[in-house]
Amino acid sequence: MASKRILIVGGVAGGASCAARLRRLDEQAEIFVFERSPDVSFANCGLPYHAGGVIQDRRKLLLATPEKFRDWFSVEVRTRHEVQEIDRERQTIEVQNLQTGRTTTEPYDVLVLAPGAAPVQPPLPGIDLPGIFSLRNLEDVDRINAWSTKHEAEQAVVVGGGYIGLEMVENFSHRGMNVTLLEQLDQIMPPMDPEMLAPAYETLRANSVDVRLSNGVVSFEPGEDHTLAVVCEDKQRLTADIVILAIGVRPEVRLAEAAGLAIGETGGIQVDERMRTSDPAIFAVGDAVEVQDFVTGRPSLIPLAGPANRQGRLAADAICGRESTFRGTQGTAVLGLFDLTLAMTGASEKTLREADMPYEKSYTHSFDHASYYPGAEMMMLKLLFAPDNGRILGAQAIGRQGVDKRIDVIAMAIQMGATVDDLKQSELCYAPQFGSAKDPVNMAGFVAENILADDVDVVHWVDLKNRRETDGEPPLVLDVRNPAETGAASVPGAMNLPLGELRTRLDELPRDREIWVHCGVGLRSYYASRILRQNGFKVRNLSGGMKTCKALP
Ligand code: FAD
Repeated sequence: MASKRILIVGGVAGGASCAARLRRLDEQAEIFVFERSPDVSFANCGLPYHAGGVIQDRRKLLLATPEKFRDWFSVEVRTRHEVQEIDRERQTIEVQNLQTGRTTTEPYDVLVLAPGAAPVQPPLPGIDLPGIFSLRNLEDVDRINAWSTKHEAEQAVVVGGGYIGLEMVENFSHRGMNVTLLEQLDQIMPPMDPEMLAPAYETLRANSVDVRLSNGVVSFEPGEDHTLAVVCEDKQRLTADIVILAIGVRPEVRLAEAAGLAIGETGGIQVDERMRTSDPAIFAVGDAVEVQDFVTGRPSLIPLAGPANRQGRLAADAICGRESTFRGTQGTAVLGLFDLTLAMTGASEKTLREADMPYEKSYTHSFDHASYYPGAEMMMLKLLFAPDNGRILGAQAIGRQGVDKRIDVIAMAIQMGATVDDLKQSELCYAPQFGSAKDPVNMAGFVAENILADDVDVVHWVDLKNRRETDGEPPLVLDVRNPAETGAASVPGAMNLPLGELRTRLDELPRDREIWVHCGVGLRSYYASRILRQNGFKVRNLSGGMKTCKALP
């Protein structure tokens, strides 16, 4: 049988994975990778840390070179080569060598598109001024480093509070710059729910980052010397030595669109579960494709390295006749923000509301390892689950230690269609320095199960906050913490009755009025709810205790 000629457009996460896997499966195929930039298979995810000087040696970001692809995989990689056009009838592509300007025509049996996503560049006045950068590849980070060094940058403005923006905030701070973060939305980290982010704002403040929410940029103007004036929606003008634009990415679909391939409603290239486009000879992977959200089933764009790599491998499988299929993307992600970790998997509450999917939620505050062993840190974990069958729909967590490990466990549980009962039953590593006999994952399962089994009626702080006078008789808010703990953080009008005295003072509580009980993190109030319920009171537990209340925006 004649060998296949397989051409790949884009040689980083999805494209490079695909090329290497293809060779492992098919020793005969002719495999070519065309990459517009000077490098292949570089670590985009490490770029912010090179800008911050954490990864000092640039070479460490190059995971493979064209020579390695040639020697190890017999794959020909052509860097500084841009694919400009696809002729589907003739099964050819037009490729321009960006160094010589020469264009050649390359025939293919199979074409794989892995062009990624480009940073969004809105047409704002002054957006092309020197000193404004976005970050996608090594050339960008070289430019950022050169500019910062040349102008001894002290004032940085980062526009956009998503992953890349926040990583740049941390790294510029690390370099000793004063950083202002501008975010048009009323929260940073849009994939997370807003009440999870209070510790992130605290950490940003503690690191002297000036965070300005609900405030976008309207224009840029040249300032004195090399500086820029960043004009904000609230009319303020910020002086900056350097500006980073990190306001999102858009799938690179120009080639696919011009070739008449189907583009999905989200703007990504449409593919089936084998990563095949509307043309059976063309596959597409990575940030450029529209994926199915694993939880909601809706079309989505989730530009992350893990899915891109897995899709590259899977496309190679499909090209070589294997049966693998892609399960969809659930948006498992993690961010380091100074000493904090923020992580999430599956759907957020926002997403579930948009998808009109019923859900229940629980908040737990648990130590990452046994509290009696030195160095234990509390994490806040939010679990979203289906009220009918307990299927886990999503989780988010924030804390200083062990956050990624818990979200990884729940991510796997979501993949396997697990329920809160499975979290309750999970058997996870435990010794005092690593975890707890009741791990935060188990705790989330226990609390969710209590809700599903109707052992406790929960009410959320946001319900208390949004209560109106017309909502009927106000509940009695009962605080079961010890008086010394209540301090400034207490609900106006709440009654304090410590858990230890509850059984002997039941006659002080109303039987004809609903009681909403809370404590510090939700554990003692759960015990109190059980006592009150079994004594005939109408009681609800304010989920997650005062710690969750204080986190509300
Ligand atoms: P890319 O890796 O972007 O590769 C596409 C390549 O195709 C590009 O190099 C481009 O030059 C080339 N190309 C495009 N069009 C053409 C053409 N016509 N001809 C030739 N070549 C072309 N994800 C995480 O999960 N975790 C992280 O911590 C994380 N951090 C990140 C930090 C930064 C600064 C950036 C930019 C991204 C980060 N990501 C992270 C996202 C992750 O890097 C991407 O999801 C992933 O690289 C997508 O892979 P891809 O193959 O689709 O596209």
